[in-house]
Amino acid sequence: MILKELSKLSVPQSIYYAKELDEKDPLRHFKNEFYTPDHSIYMDGNSLGLLSKRAEASLLQSIDDWKTHGINGWTDAEQPWFYMAEMLGKMTAPLIGAKEDETITTGSITTNLHQMLTTFYKPYDKKTKIIADSLTFPSDIYAIKAQLELHGLSPDEHLIQVQSSDGRTIDEDDIIKEMTNEVALVLLPSVLYRSGQLLDIKKITRAANDKDIIIGFDLAHSVGVIPHYLHEWGVDFAVWCTYKYLNSGPGGVGGLYVHEKHLGKKPGLAGWFSSKKDVQFDMSHDLDHAQTAGAFQIGTPHIFSMASLIGSLEIFSEAGIEQIREKSLKLTKYLMELTALKLNRFGFTIANPAEDHRRGGHVCLEHNEAARICKALKNKGVIPDFRAPNVIRLAPISLYTSFEDVWNVVHILEEIMATKEYEQFTNNRNIIA
Ligand SMILES: *Cc1c(COP(=O)(O)O)cnc(C)c1O
Repeated sequence: MILKELSKLSVPQSIYYAKELDEKDPLRHFKNEFYTPDHSIYMDGNSLGLLSKRAEASLLQSIDDWKTHGINGWTDAEQPWFYMAEMLGKMTAPLIGAKEDETITTGSITTNLHQMLTTFYKPYDKKTKIIADSLTFPSDIYAIKAQLELHGLSPDEHLIQVQSSDGRTIDEDDIIKEMTNEVALVLLPSVLYRSGQLLDIKKITRAANDKDIIIGFDLAHSVGVIPHYLHEWGVDFAVWCTYKYLNSGPGGVGGLYVHEKHLGKKPGLAGWFSSKKDVQFDMSHDLDHAQTAGAFQIGTPHIFSMASLIGSLEIFSEAGIEQIREKSLKLTKYLMELTALKLNRFGFTIANPAEDHRRGGHVCLEHNEAARICKALKNKGVIPDFRAPNVIRLAPISLYTSFEDVWNVVHILEEIMATKEYEQFTNNRNIIA
């Protein structure tokens, strides 16, 4: 299928071509800023991004601030802790196309989803339904079902999961068709976590806006790799994590966006950090909530889990999200082309959309022996990402993957298949996959 079409394209097969692409790459110097575990070729930055020297430095700085200032770090730290979430929100705004007050660094995807759903999901009369897709990440669905149940509504009746015709992708028109008068809210991923399909956010959002339906996006697989224009597109809310493409580290604090037209709305889940900053320490029992996205914070920010973002986001601001996307598209296209040329005969299917405007930051290969092929890759120093039962996700990252790395991955994979080296491993997943 897709493989055959791609293999008709004639990408030069020599490693010198990869080296040439690297020489022309304006982002190539950023690779030196990252630590690569055990000199591996790291293709899993869509699950957990790598540590940069600058992220390490800003994290260590926050520890030093604690050492030096104790409680005064809230106001006297190099980056005062009391304002860190707001400051990081401002640094994130250009990545998602938001105004500065529309974003805040807080929570995790799932807790932020609960915050957004308690704030925006207000079922009344017949307008009770929530649209999601059938291929989405489980945590998002758990959150939606839990929210429906909190309203005493059964997920069987009130959750519409748009089906996929090929098991990999979702047709935007199928989503729009479900937007009836009974729909209160739509929640979708920007990029599907398995197939890497990038949805047409602008088109779907316009349809939802026209029908007076609240629409939110989960940007887990697009923030830090794809530019967004959330404000301009009229997206009502969005949530994301920072440990994937934004390289904040395991459990790094996530973020949320709320469109300006909703700022001032009462947070569904309130806490003292929802307060206007200048009156927070008045300790009143009547919350005077912030008129910014800061209102959707709940409790004390996790300083050590967000300090790394200061250094990391500096890199994004220097590299520029448009340039990052441009290189990412080149890397994934090159990976697909080499795969089509070298691996066609071994039974791989490229399961992500081939077109640039429908593709996220990773390539999705399907193979019946995927679990043990991934184990063989790790054994040879390539870190892939397996998703049961048959998916290998490979994410070349603009900031730290070279074209030569991509060339090497495909050739290592070819060798593993040609020698049947993967047969030494069992075809089941490990506890974390
Ligand atoms: C990674 C990911 C999550 C994880 O949620 P957390 O609350 O950050 O653990 C949720 N949704 C999607 C689509 C993801 O890709």
